[in-house]
Amino acid sequence: MAAVRAEWGSARRIVIKIGSSLLVNTETGALNREWLASLVADAAALKAEGKEIILVSSGAIALGRKVLGLPSGPLRLEDNQAAASVGQIDLAHAYEETFKASGLVAAQILLTFGDTEERRRYLNARSTMETLLRLGAVPVVNENDTVATSEIRYGDNDRLAARVASMMSADCLILLSDVDGLYTSAPGLDGTGQLLPEITEITPDIEAMAGDTGTELSRGGMVTKIEAARIAVGAGTHMVIASGKVMNPLARFTQGGVCTWFLAHSNPRASRKRWIAGALEPRGAVVIDDGAVNALKAGKSLLPAGVSSIEGSFDRGDAVVIRNTCGTELGRGLSAYSHEDAQVIIGHKSREITELLGYRGRDELIHRDDMALKQGAGTGE
Ligand code: GLU
Repeated sequence: MAAVRAEWGSARRIVIKIGSSLLVNTETGALNREWLASLVADAAALKAEGKEIILVSSGAIALGRKVLGLPSGPLRLEDNQAAASVGQIDLAHAYEETFKASGLVAAQILLTFGDTEERRRYLNARSTMETLLRLGAVPVVNENDTVATSEIRYGDNDRLAARVASMMSADCLILLSDVDGLYTSAPGLDGTGQLLPEITEITPDIEAMAGDTGTELSRGGMVTKIEAARIAVGAGTHMVIASGKVMNPLARFTQGGVCTWFLAHSNPRASRKRWIAGALEPRGAVVIDDGAVNALKAGKSLLPAGVSSIEGSFDRGDAVVIRNTCGTELGRGLSAYSHEDAQVIIGHKSREITELLGYRGRDELIHRDDMALKQGAGTGE
């Protein structure tokens, strides 16, 4: 077997998507516990190497539909939701038990579309997952299928996983499913399909190769995987399609098993900064003193104490312009507070926030990860 790519070695934060057809036996509707144990053992080994792991797991509907005696084939939305609410309990329980056996803590995160698309909720979801990772837990994410309605759902976990990877600035997203990569034409049909090991650009030709290879259990075929790749690569995250149809699928992948890499041209940090700097309409401004200017130039976050005044009416999570006292724009960032709350805490020490606002918010007004400074931004220009 070939060695795994260098991109994997340097990847620190990894999102792994697990398709329903791997976890749930199509005929019986039973959970493949042995396979799950092998996957969790792999994830634990990666964690021991210092990687941060986030799982995005399907399987709720596949597990629940059998329990409720629902027929095979496409289900009505309300039957899907009922199946998901039954199956998600089993799924979460299985993860909890299996991770515990490896000495790890699993944490369930159920997301609806708005949680990654609306900035305020996005910041909440992001900071909860950051906290879980910091505390050593393994977030296990699924769509909150029981409340998602057809117009406002991700619909498939390939795209959900890509949104999570982008939201969490992950270095690498691995889609484990029943296919081992992208083929030039469907393998097995005419015997000429070749697996593409590496894709550096998602061209119309690549899209045309996707066809539709979904199975009954997993909604996402190759088309949704290509869409996921577009989201991931756009956020600076490399994406891999690899087979999960083997025991210890991650160990196999890291030993250089066949797969398709979609390579990003940027990294998640740079992509996020570009997004903050360019894609968002600023809703206000913060004017900062010289001490804060120096702190920001040294790579620190913006604390309320360094802010002299604010302008505009912005909400938590909105983009604001950062200016020095001479009116020069230094950069932009996402405010951790609304303008009303920011007005109360500016000029104050972070430890006073609880007393001033009556709740314990973030210490920073703009966290350094949520900030994009202009090149050469300096004091008093
Ligand atoms: N969220 C769905 C479930 O847990 C899976 C969607 C998908 O397979 O892409 O059953």
